[in-house]
Amino acid sequence: MKTHNLGYPRIGSNRELKKACENYWSGNLSVEELISTGRNISEHNWKQQRDAGIELIPSNDFSYYDQILDMSLTVGAIPKRYNEIAVNKSNNELDLYFAMARGYQKNGLDITAMEMTKWFDTNYHYIVPEFYKNQEFKLFSNKISNEFAGAKQLGITTKPVIIGLVSYLLLGKEKEEGFDKLDLVKNLLPVYIDILKGLKDQGAEWIQFDEPFLALDINQKAKEAYVQVYTALRKEFPQLKIMIATYFEGLKDNLNLATALPVCALHIDLVRCPEQLDEVLDAVPDTLSISLGLIDGRNIWKNDLEQSLEFIKRAVGKIGTDRILVAPSCSLLHSPCDLDLETNDKTLSPEIKQWLAFAKQKISEVLLLKASATGVLNADDVIQLEENKTAAQSRKTSALIHNEQVKQRVNAITKQDAERENPFPVRKIAQQTVLGLPLFPTTTIGSFPQTAEVRSWRAKFKKGDITAVEYDTLLKEETEKAIRWQEEIGIDVLVHGEFERNDMVEYFGEQLDGFSFTKNGWVQSYGSRCVKPPIIYGDVYRPTPMTVYWSAYAQSLTTSLVKGMLTGPVTVLQWSFVRNDQPRSVTCNQIALAIRDEVTDLEKAGIKIIQIDEPAIREGLPLRNTDWQDYLKWAINAFKISSSGVKDQTQIHTHMCYSEFNDIIQNIADMDADVITIECSRSQMELLDAFANFNYPNEIGPGVYDIHSPRVPSKEEMIQLLEKAKSVIPAEQLWVNPDCGLKTRHWDETKKALIAMVEAARELQNVCV
Ligand code: GLN
Ligand code: ZN
Repeated sequence: MKTHNLGYPRIGSNRELKKACENYWSGNLSVEELISTGRNISEHNWKQQRDAGIELIPSNDFSYYDQILDMSLTVGAIPKRYNEIAVNKSNNELDLYFAMARGYQKNGLDITAMEMTKWFDTNYHYIVPEFYKNQEFKLFSNKISNEFAGAKQLGITTKPVIIGLVSYLLLGKEKEEGFDKLDLVKNLLPVYIDILKGLKDQGAEWIQFDEPFLALDINQKAKEAYVQVYTALRKEFPQLKIMIATYFEGLKDNLNLATALPVCALHIDLVRCPEQLDEVLDAVPDTLSISLGLIDGRNIWKNDLEQSLEFIKRAVGKIGTDRILVAPSCSLLHSPCDLDLETNDKTLSPEIKQWLAFAKQKISEVLLLKASATGVLNADDVIQLEENKTAAQSRKTSALIHNEQVKQRVNAITKQDAERENPFPVRKIAQQTVLGLPLFPTTTIGSFPQTAEVRSWRAKFKKGDITAVEYDTLLKEETEKAIRWQEEIGIDVLVHGEFERNDMVEYFGEQLDGFSFTKNGWVQSYGSRCVKPPIIYGDVYRPTPMTVYWSAYAQSLTTSLVKGMLTGPVTVLQWSFVRNDQPRSVTCNQIALAIRDEVTDLEKAGIKIIQIDEPAIREGLPLRNTDWQDYLKWAINAFKISSSGVKDQTQIHTHMCYSEFNDIIQNIADMDADVITIECSRSQMELLDAFANFNYPNEIGPGVYDIHSPRVPSKEEMIQLLEKAKSVIPAEQLWVNPDCGLKTRHWDETKKALIAMVEAARELQNVCV
């Protein structure tokens, strides 16, 4: 039995890489210093895993920005627009690399970045490879072999981790018509062979090819590509031990394909799909080892070692000890680095902390599992096993986690709880009477610029440099300014500006029971950007109202309508580390009830319009198509539970961004929000077609102002977009608003853009009246 790891976090336990990259970009760090920071992180990770006792330690899991971009550079998949940077001798390889990642606006050049998108269903984002017809590849960067050599110098023979050829192609995008990216297999294969040749000469024994697509829905052509690629590699390198790693889903219909590939080992994710174990064991040929992905690489809970041992035993019983590897379920890239750094009891209480494991702790768990399974436990292992049992026991019964009232309330949810009193046409009339809004009503998505000043107040308040009363006064002044300005330019539905909020999930988590936070639990989201997701450890409960104070204050300042602003249950769930001792749907319903209480409290406080943001609904979609409807059913229902406690005349809005709606439009309609605002301007209203084709019955605000750019759109541009919208959606259903919240913008551009937006709306009103 062997232990191995699929990848280790590379941002550094104190986000050293983030800081070094950002300093390099701003010209405050030399390339040598940047490389040395990267090298230190890699060495630290290798040594840590070696000292812990991991047998197959990964290399090439380090990256300055993204591992898929690394591969594009390695195989020379460099789009032509970067030629000038590549040929300029004063640029180094990293300059070219960062230009591809971030775009390049220097020395008279203005080159766009490569596209970035979500890594399967994680919150990590990768840089999308660009493919062209008959594209040629060549070994361009030696990163893989350099990293292998670096570890070798320390006496560590690593297992290089490389994105598998088929998955690499499937992750990319065809940039011209008339070909299929899988046609490029034959051009790319020689470069993979070159890479392996080099590694073999350097003394590599094991190679890990990540092939997550083997656990997804793939077509016949992809299946054939798998056979072609791995047969060719086997023929070329009979002596190299190749492992194929699958994760995030079960092999399911690809089981026979995967187990028949001529490789040495196959890694399966038993956290996401524990039920696949027996099937896989029945299907493996004698020549194939199985890597059991038992430790959750994507969540922060201690492993249930007893259950994992049970799995190992089952595997040993079927195929013996020698062909088994023990590992985390996927790369630990998606875990925070080190729980030992959480030393502040106030942020993370010792009781909760004992239930958790970050990357470093997960590595120990892998070793503990092997030691237990093979019966060679030392004194320290015995203590750790005992601790694991105690923690598991405490989690089952802790009063911190279990709140009977919450459980009972979730069990008592009825169908009616998720339905408004009357259907939309009836509500629409009631709302018209109360709200008296014009045609093409204007609004914004919630936040106004979070200036450095606003952020500095919060920092000072947290540090104790200003009192709660002083902080409150500053926020009230800022809110009042925002209200006055919106009145002045004539926006129809005002917002309070969200100045009191740090983050749209954290702000709610901090006020709800069942949530905890870390000081240093950072996870890479993309490039140098990291996120610190809240931890939902227990039954979620709202002790007191969360937003009524600010919404009621803002409403008290004006006779105009002020919209209440909440984050929806699915988004809170999606952007947190979620407990694994009950189904996600149950946790989601608990959050939904908390939001529902907030919605009805806002209504009681005189707020007539309430927005419940759900930007993460779409990204929660399961990876396998067959699981979509089940997810959508509980997710949409949770939203409806949160929004349905109000009277007909109270108008419920929702907001979504970065979404394709075509394939889930029925479900969006089922949410039955009175108004939905969506991101739309960058696609020039294309996203609206889904709503038009569906005859979407409720009201829609397609964004007319791209808030992700500092550019101020003109009134004419916005009119044009609205005309386009009006040609597919009846005018009585349309709202006028930006794409998303204005938190990251500056006031000067925000003001200009919103003034133009209101003027655009007025012009359309005049035409229609
Ligand atoms: N109400 C939030 C804001 O305006 C919505 C943010 C989002 O869609 N991500 O910032
Ligand atoms: Zn948004």
